[in-house]
Formats: sequence, C-alpha cells, structure tokens
Amino acid sequence: MSVIKRRQFVRTALAALPAATLPFGKLFAASASATVEDVEAVTNDGKQLVLKGADVKDLAARMRGELLLRNSAGYDGARRIWNAAFDRHPALIARCSGAADVMEAVKFAAANQLLLAVRGGGHSLSGQSVCEKGLMLDLSQMNGAHVDPVKRIATIEGGALLGALDRESLVHGLATTAGTVSHTGVGGLTLGGGFGRLGRRFGLTCDNVRSIDLITADGKFVTASASQNKDLLWGLRGGGGNFGVATSFEFQLHPVDPIMVGGELAYSFADAPDMLKFFFDFAMQAPDDLNLDASLVRLPNDVRFFTIDVCYSGPRGNVDKVLAPLRSFRKPIRDTIATVPYVQLQASGDEGAAVGRRYYIKGGFVQQPSQGLIDTMLATIAEANLPVVQAIAMPQGGGAYARVKVDATAFAQRAAPFNLFVFSAWDDAAQGDAVGNWARTSWKKLEPHTRGFYVNEFNDDAHRMRETYGGNYDRLAALKGKFDPNNLFRMNANVPPKRA
Ligand SMILES: Cc1cc2nc3c(=O)[nH]c(=O)nc-3n(C[C@H](O)[C@H](O)[C@H](O)COP(=O)(O)OP(=O)(O)OC[C@H]3O[C@@H](n4cnc5c(N)ncnc54)[C@H](O)[C@@H]3O)c2cc1C
Repeated sequence: MSVIKRRQFVRTALAALPAATLPFGKLFAASASATVEDVEAVTNDGKQLVLKGADVKDLAARMRGELLLRNSAGYDGARRIWNAAFDRHPALIARCSGAADVMEAVKFAAANQLLLAVRGGGHSLSGQSVCEKGLMLDLSQMNGAHVDPVKRIATIEGGALLGALDRESLVHGLATTAGTVSHTGVGGLTLGGGFGRLGRRFGLTCDNVRSIDLITADGKFVTASASQNKDLLWGLRGGGGNFGVATSFEFQLHPVDPIMVGGELAYSFADAPDMLKFFFDFAMQAPDDLNLDASLVRLPNDVRFFTIDVCYSGPRGNVDKVLAPLRSFRKPIRDTIATVPYVQLQASGDEGAAVGRRYYIKGGFVQQPSQGLIDTMLATIAEANLPVVQAIAMPQGGGAYARVKVDATAFAQRAAPFNLFVFSAWDDAAQGDAVGNWARTSWKKLEPHTRGFYVNEFNDDAHRMRETYGGNYDRLAALKGKFDPNNLFRMNANVPPKRA
C-alpha cells in the first residue's frame, strides 16, 4: 500500500470511531463537553464578526485535524510563516488532515463570510498565507509524497514541501521542475507557475501538472485534468490560489541523472559592469540544460559582488566547455562548481533563505535587458548602505518556459528571458521601515525596465494584474466568476471575479 493510500486508510478507519474517542482532531485539546466562548473575527471585507462558540465547537467536531484558537497549545507555532515580517493572529487555525477537513473549513469560512488565508508551505513573500482575525486553513499536515516510477508520476499532497517532491522522485532517477529552496511549498509555487533549475528543460512546474484535486469555494471536491474540468486546469496553471484549495497534485516526471554539476561562480564588484552585460547575452544563448540564477549582492559588512548559481544537467563531460566563457571572460573570485547530487544542490540555498527571518521582495519580468537596466542595478547596489542583506536577483527564463503557447495556460509571461527582483533579509524588527523605503525607492527605478510580474512574488502589485496576465486576464476573471463568484479566495495575487 502506498504512503498516501496507507494514510488514507488509517484516516478512514479513525473517522469511523465515535468523536469522543478520536485521538486527534479535537478542539484545542479541550474536552468534548467544554463550552467554547464566542470568537472575535473579521469578514473577508474587513467588518468585525463574532463567531458563535457553539459553531466553532461544531466545526472542530467535524474535523479530524486540530482546530486551534488563540489560547490553544501549538497556536503560536502554527500561525508563523517563512517571512517573520508578518506577525498576524488568525481567529482560528484549521490544521487539516485531508480533503474532508478542507471541505469543512472552506464551508465554514464561506457560510460566515470569514476572511480566509490558505497556507501550503507558508512561503508567501507578502504574507498571504496568514491573516489577522480570519481563518487560516493550514495544509502543513497534508505533506505526503508518493512516486510511481513505472508510470513516472508523482502524487503530492497540497501542503508538501519541494524537498519531498525532489527526494521521492530522484531516488528513481526522475524529476520535474521544482524551485531552488527545498523548504518552499509545492502548492503555492505550482499554482503560480514554478521556476527552477530544471525548468529550461521541462517547463514551469505547473506545465508538468497532470491533474489537481481542488476544494472549491462551495466546499465541493473537483478534479481538474485533461479530461475533467479542463478549463479549470488551464486557470490553475499560473492563476495562483484564486480558484480553491488544492489538496493533491499529480506531476509528470522525467528521467534525469541524479548527479549533476552545480555551484557558484562569484565575481568582484569591479567586474560586475562587464560581467552583467556578458551574463545577459550569454544566458540568452545558453543550452536548455544550463540554468543560471544571477544576483548582485551587498552584505551588511559592505562587501559587494556579482554571483551566479549554476546548474548543469546535461552530459557531465561537456560541462567545462559549456562554462568556459563564464570562467574566461572575467576570473571568478569564487568557483565552487562540482559534481553534486541534484537533491543536495536543491537544498544548497536553504540556509540563505532560512525560515523565520524578515524579508522584502518586489519584482517584475525583464523582456529585453538594456544598458539602462544594468546601470540602474549597479547604482542601486553601489548606494545600498543598510546593516542588512541587499540584493537584486535575476533568475533566468527562456528554454522550455518559452516554448509553451502564451494562451495554453493562465501563466502568460512566457517570453521574458529574466525575472528581476530586489531582495532584502534582516532580523531586527526596527530595520523594517528603512528596508521597506530602500526596496520601494529602488524598485521605482527598476520597474520601468520590466513588464508584468511573477504572481508568486506578489507584493503590492494589484494594479499590475492585467499587465501580467495580458490576453489571458479576461478568461481568468471569467473562470474566477464561475468558481469563486464571492471572491472567498482573495488572499493571493487576486483576480477579482467577473460575473457572467
Ligand atoms: C525561500 C523562497 C524561495 C523561492 N524560490 C522560488 C523558486 O525557485 N521558483 C519559484 O518559482 N518560486 C520561488 N519562490 C516563490 C514561491 O513560489 C512562492 O512564495 C509560493 O507562493 C510559495 O508557496 P507556498 O505553498 O510555500 O506558499 P504559502 O505561503 O503557503 O501560499 C502562498 C499562496 O499560495 C496559495 N496556496 C498555497 N498552497 C495552496 C494550495 N495547496 N491550494 C491553494 N492555494 C494554495 C495561498 O493561498 C497563498 O496565496 C520562493 C519563495 C521563497 C520564500
């Protein structure tokens, strides 16, 4: 019996027990007979709301997972997400154990018009997965991953992390595109697109989705695939969390060599002006099996440099030839390129993006790199002077991302050869305003060099949604109108519903 099937079997068996004997799923560890006080909350349009204690207790009784209140054990840990800049207190946290719990939680939120946040891996850069005084629907316990090596299919639960997808796949010499930090969630990343070290070969993560099980705003379970709800699958491939809660994903896997070549090439800041121009030209001609994620970085100790994260997944004998231009145009000050298990490479950025620090990110897509862009980037990093990490990242696009037709999925920014974002990481809450000012001022100068933005880097970008989805926007808004006419799922890169 597979891991997921075994879990389902255990859950089904437990669900058959009378509620009083259930070992988990119980309300904040209180006894079944305890009275629950009314709970202060907010509606999804910001009005104050009081949830009746009896209704809250009833929801808890219908769930197998835990329902946490502010005074419950475990509440504080459950409300925290990757970005500590968002310190919010949901009225309720529904720690779902499976699709049935998700259905209950969604129905409860809809019936009460309760503000709803969906937490997959909790890596929303702008804190969309935790809400103040609403319901946080937490999928972190739904983290199973199962691979069928014969059919080359991975079945991944909606709250699983990328590390689970990679590890379970690579053990069979299989992989699909996953992001570059292993503690990021599969759910959010996939629904918004999904760029990664293998993406120039295999396309976006969402391009590799075969089917998705989804709980819609009316609490119904639907499957979106090539044969069922095809239109919905179109929207889920890039439309983010707008359509419901994905409880399970099925991915197409591809044979790969589990040992690849990767590491870092770093250059002095003095060489950055020449290297940036060279990098942009080189990257746009690179083979699909080479992935380059470059950044201009300034550290709190005032050290500045230009760095490229390299992954080469082609024939290992070719790597020196492929990388020779990057090594000879300017001499790297650090060269850590080596053969490495792909799973290890995929975790190499985990510490640099540790859970629980404060982060600010704002970005857009570059359609054509220009000297003006290069000059603006260099000036931004030259002038950076805060006691925090300040960087501009430019992950690569192109390859298979660009070979999918723009209207084949909701994700429309296929042609952009680079993503671009300003990035800052810090720990001291007192630095928040200064960092925010720096990032916003810098982005004002960089934004004119971009068109559209990556919805998985959604920040205060509501005004750029139409530009981002281009010709796909109206179809997406109509689909939203069909599946979520009251905009229950609004804590995301939101596409307001267009009613028929
Ligand atoms: C350290 C780090 C590294 C990253 N690296 C990459 C990268 O290499 N490539 C890349 O493309 N992106 C990358 N991203 C961006 C990433 O894709 C987004 O932050 C994404 O939203 C994270 O998904 P999550 O499930 O962890 O997020 P969450 O915070 O849980 O959710 C974010 C959004 O997705 C929705 N959502 C999440 N899960 C579900 C679900 N199961 N069903 C319905 N809606 C759901 C939520 O409603 C929410 O609006 C990175 C982000 C971080 C923080």
